[in-house]
Amino acid sequence: MSAKILDGKSLAAATRAALKQKVDALVQRGVRPGLTVLIAGDDPASKVYVRNKTLAAKEIGVRSELIELPGSVSEQQLLDHVARLNANREVHGILVQLPLPKSLHTETIINAIDPAKDVDGLHPNNAGRLAGGFAALSPCTPLGCIILTKSVHTSLEGMNAIVIGRSNLVGRPLLQLLLNENATVTIAHSRSRDLPELTARADLVYAAVGKPEMVRGDWIKPGATVIDVGINRLSAADGGKPRLVGDVAYQEALQVAGAITPVPGGVGQMTVACLLVNTLRAASAIAGLPKPGV
Ligand code: NAP
Repeated sequence: MSAKILDGKSLAAATRAALKQKVDALVQRGVRPGLTVLIAGDDPASKVYVRNKTLAAKEIGVRSELIELPGSVSEQQLLDHVARLNANREVHGILVQLPLPKSLHTETIINAIDPAKDVDGLHPNNAGRLAGGFAALSPCTPLGCIILTKSVHTSLEGMNAIVIGRSNLVGRPLLQLLLNENATVTIAHSRSRDLPELTARADLVYAAVGKPEMVRGDWIKPGATVIDVGINRLSAADGGKPRLVGDVAYQEALQVAGAITPVPGGVGQMTVACLLVNTLRAASAIAGLPKPGV
């Protein structure tokens, strides 16, 4: 048996195409959604991510702006930028690219973003609303995981899911989104016992750990859907280009799973598409219009 490969690239392209139509409809009603991405410092991976995000936004007709600040920017200067964007009626989504330089306090900056414009879903208001089961802007990667899962399962009701990893960015919000879908969820972390055994009970496996190929093929229940969030760079033995691998031993899992996301080409692609979903939702909510479905 070989698993169905969940192609994040095509699903992201289809999501963007559907969103473009919704952007056009909003523009006709006088609202052009706007996204501003702030980056501080010179981290090369972050620079690639922010470029991809602003390009994807432009491609679907969202007005997008990238503000690049030096790594030496002070907390007050960054807070001033956020305050200005909070007040700007043409900006519906504000994203501060993480990680920030060590001299800046991430929580202070995130807490300063207007929750209505918090398209990364990291503001405590949004995290709290999501945890309470209320409508919220939720973080993009978990949202992408749900869309990928629903591309093979129309309903997740009653399914056993395991989320490995409990970060605020991925594991915790994913737990809430799965509960909203009526799945039965186990959340595991570095102190969990018997991880292979817990994983073997799951119909849906989400790995968000940051440990290359930690989840082995023989942990996986035959036919399970495996969503690999991990992005790990392995340096090549010959000093060549580093190789990207996920948190799941892909070749092994391919033989057992029913469906699986590749790395790269899986969750990462959907993360960017879901940033656009959130920007549209924020723009609609701010304009007092119904939020578009995904
Ligand atoms: P993180 O904040 O470092 O959290 C990692 C989680 O994994 C923690 O909850 C940790 O447990 C748990 N963990 C660590 N070792 C473990 C072990 N041996 N067994 C079970 N759990 C273990 O990482 P993150 O931000 O959630 O990111 C996770 C991975 O996803 C990374 O590879 C990251 O690059 C990737 N990522 C990808 C995307 C995308 O768009 N594809 C987006 C975001 C992140 P404790 O809480 O006990 O420490």
